[in-house]
This record gives sequence, C-alpha cells and structure tokens, in this order.
Amino acid sequence: MIQKPRGTMDLLPEVTPTWRFVEQTCRDTARRFGFEEIRVPTFEASELYRRGVGEGTDVVQKEMYDFFDKDGRSMTLRPEGTAGVARAVIENSLYAGAMPLKLSYLVSCFRYELPQAGRSREFYQFGVECFGASDPKCDAEVILLAAEIFKALDIKVRLELNSIGCPECRAKYLEALKAYFATKTDVLCETCQGRLSRNALRVLDCKSPICKEVAAGAPKILDFLCEDCKASFDATCKTLSDCGLEYTVNPQIVRGLDYYRGVVFEFISDDIGAQSTVCGGGRYDGLIESLGGPALPGIGFGMGLTRIMLCLKAKQQQVERATPDLYIASIGDGARDFSFLLAQSLRERGLYVVSDIVGRSLKAQMKYADKCGAKFAIVLGDDELANKAARLRPMRGGDEVEIDLTDPDALISLLKGE
Ligand code: ATP
Ligand code: MG
Repeated sequence: MIQKPRGTMDLLPEVTPTWRFVEQTCRDTARRFGFEEIRVPTFEASELYRRGVGEGTDVVQKEMYDFFDKDGRSMTLRPEGTAGVARAVIENSLYAGAMPLKLSYLVSCFRYELPQAGRSREFYQFGVECFGASDPKCDAEVILLAAEIFKALDIKVRLELNSIGCPECRAKYLEALKAYFATKTDVLCETCQGRLSRNALRVLDCKSPICKEVAAGAPKILDFLCEDCKASFDATCKTLSDCGLEYTVNPQIVRGLDYYRGVVFEFISDDIGAQSTVCGGGRYDGLIESLGGPALPGIGFGMGLTRIMLCLKAKQQQVERATPDLYIASIGDGARDFSFLLAQSLRERGLYVVSDIVGRSLKAQMKYADKCGAKFAIVLGDDELANKAARLRPMRGGDEVEIDLTDPDALISLLKGE
C-alpha cells in the first residue's frame, strides 16, 4: 500500500465544501478591497527563496523542499507566497501599470517541518501583497482586509501588532538585544543559540518556555524606533482604532522572514492549540529591490487556511455536502434508458440529478438514493412510461405528488420548491 507523504493531507468530499466556502470568502473579501488574483509557479529557482525569504530564516535553513531537476538546476517547492509574487511583479514589469499594485493568491506551500496539529508539510495559504504604497493607510488597509475575512468567517481572533523598525533603528536595537542575550546564552535553547548570530530577532518568538521567559525581559524594539518609524506605526494604530478594530501591541512579534521591516502583525486564535497564528504579515520595503527590481515598498500577509479549518472545526461549523435534487430509479431496460435521458435533460437545466448507471435492483437503488441524501425520488417502470406519469416522492417526509413526464417545467418547479 502506497500512502500519502508524511505531513500531507487528503481533503475528502466531506470537508471540501467547507474549504470552498473559506476560499470563496477570502477571494470575495479581497476583491472588495481591490486585490486581484495572481497565480505563480509552484516551484521556482532555489535562489529566489534563498534571497527573498532570507538565509537567516528557519524556512531557508531547514524547511525548504529543494531538488535538482534533470538539468541539474536547484529548484524549490514554494515555501511561502511573497517571493514568487515579487519575482512575477519584476519579471512582468507590473509596476509599470496602475499603482499601488494589489494582488492576492491562494496557494499550497511546502515546508519540511515536524508534522503536528496545525503544522503540515503541505499547507494552504491565502495571501495578499500591496506594492508601491508606504503610507500607514496602506498598512491599515491590509490588516483590515485580514480582519474582515475573519469577521466574514465568524472566527474569533486577536490581532497583535508591532513595528520592527527600519534597518537603521533595528541595527541599534539589535546591538542592545545581543548585549542582553549575551548574558543569557547558556539558558537559551540550541536553535536560539544559533539564531543569536544569524537572526537575533527570531529569539523573541521562540516557542520554548525558557526562551520565552528570557525574551520577556529583553529590550523592546518600540523604545528604539526612529521618529519616522514611530510616527508611521502610531498612524497605522490610529487608523485601525478609527475603524473600530481592536488590537494589542506586542513587542515580541517579529515574524520569521528576513525581509520584514516596519509594521508586523499576527492574528491569533485561542481555540486551536499551540499552532495558534492563523495569519501573519508585515511590511517588506526593500524586498523587490533585493530581487533586482525597482525600489518599491510592499506589505502583505499569509493566512494559514489549514489552521482556519481547525478554527471552524473547533466550533463545529461546516458546510454540508450538496445533495441531489432528484434521484430517478428505474425498473427494466426501457425505463432505465428513459431515466438516463431525463436525468441528462434536467442537469442541462441546472439541477443535481442522479439516475442508476450500474443496473441495481430497485431496493438497492432506493438505498443509494437515501445514502446520498436525495431530496426527491421518482420510480420509473413500464406503467409510468406508458402513462407518461409518475409519482414524485419526497425522501424526508411529505406527500407524494403526481407528475407529468412530458412537462419538465412543472417538474423543475416542484423540485425547486416553487
Ligand atoms: P509559525 O510560527 O507557525 O511557524 P511562520 O512564521 O513560519 O509560522 P509564515 O511564514 O508567516 O508562518 O506563514 C503565514 C501563515 O501560514 C502562518 O501564520 C500559519 O497560519 C501558516 N503556516 C505556516 N507554516 C505552516 C505549516 N507548516 N502548516 C500549516 N500552516 C502553516
Ligand atoms: Mg514556521
């Protein structure tokens, strides 16, 4: 028996209607905010992610699914959405069109991680990116969009915000941070000891309890922001408040990817256990330039749909599978041929209709109709065909109705409950 790779999921028909609902909600909400869909490749040159995500990150250090293709080029399965979208913006000169450029995407991402609840090796992300605007209003708009999606899905989340400053204020902060951690090196976890030289900020969001405790006493980046960064962050916060969106400022939020700067944020759910960040994002001015494009500010977020599904599951919210409007049972070859044509003509008119295509007994057909939740059934035999009439039977209680097989309009009205 060949089984699915570790950390991947089969999304079965009982859950795909809920997935579609979530995906549609994301797309519809993004459209209302003016974000248009972009689709980019599932794999890219490894170099793109090394540069675009950053050498110092967990993603590049240990989580990338990379492989050599048959020409010996190093390729990587998409670990996140932003780098590929940024590449597409540069390669297609999208910045030459209307600015700001607002893009959204729904993709699967691949990371070699330890699988657990809310953390898989292939996971689904809805993301947006806004290029070409550095105004705090743009920050607020992107955050409000994510909040609006949670509202539409009726999922309770907390918004936590921080600013990690620009390279100038962050350099000063990093000095202070490293000086602080230098006195605590021996208690930090092994990963964080490595992070100290590569990416000391990341120690702040380590999940290990000891590192968390050490991090809580660390200097706060907000005390180191330059005037511009502080003014921008304050303006973003004010706009969110003006729009009635609640948030807390959490100086511990730093985000995992190298290219972030300025505002960073996370939406957190308290209902799904340890992997509780359902959406993370922030500003990444400088990314496009570092990938060989023009100096173009950007901000975006990635929303983990796999974790959103856990939120919906926790409150037992699911979208039911569609059920047939009508099951047409038949007895004998003539009736079976007729029922096949009738099913086809009703489907052409938009109804969900099932007829027997395996030659089952009547009893087995009715059992099947019940199993797939058909709302109505009719049984066709020689008599029905001769009289061009049949009885429409509601499957979940109600009276039978006589129908005229030569009048599909009347039948359709009945099925639609008109
Ligand atoms: P985490 O701290 O949970 O590892 P991250 O900082 O690596 O998250 P991002 O790269 O910002 O996450 O990805 C954005 C969102 O994608 C996360 O907030 C989360 O909801 C989701 N996500 C990230 N990695 C996984 C994964 N392995 N499985 C499922 N969802 C994930
Ligand atoms: Mg991660």
